[in-house]
Amino acid sequence: MGTEMKGQCMCGAVTFEARPSKMTFDACHCGMCRAWTGSMFTGVHLTPGEFTVLTGADRIRSLASSEWAERAWCDACGGNLYYRVTAEGPNQGDTHLALGTLENPDAFDFESEIFIDRKPGCFAFEGSRPTMTEAEVVAQFASPAEETTQ
Ligand SMILES: [Zn+2]
Ligand SMILES: [Zn+2]
Repeated sequence: MGTEMKGQCMCGAVTFEARPSKMTFDACHCGMCRAWTGSMFTGVHLTPGEFTVLTGADRIRSLASSEWAERAWCDACGGNLYYRVTAEGPNQGDTHLALGTLENPDAFDFESEIFIDRKPGCFAFEGSRPTMTEAEVVAQFASPAEETTQ
């Protein structure tokens, strides 16, 4: 496990601690992340032992947004918290914590963008990094039944 870092939702009811083993984040431009965030989701990958809720666990609400994952938010402020893998398998319980909830987002390197072909043309991150299209993501990670969302 890596450096300890604190984070919180917009209103501060939910606070947590992350110990990321990899100081990177990824952006997802899939349709669900776009609707969820209003733009795109940027997440820090944390294994189950690397994420601990400190306060406000009872304010966390989640939606089973697909058969293999849930998306969670604070019910006091509506602030997005994380995407978590719920499907059985080696990635079960992995949390993709919203980068912006952490106290020091600048500590992370931008590793990749997925669902790049779903990104609206009206915005783009500066610079370049590895990307994956929807088809590439589905082929690598997702259930064959799912076609349009992560
Ligand atoms: Zn809140
Ligand atoms: Zn997504």
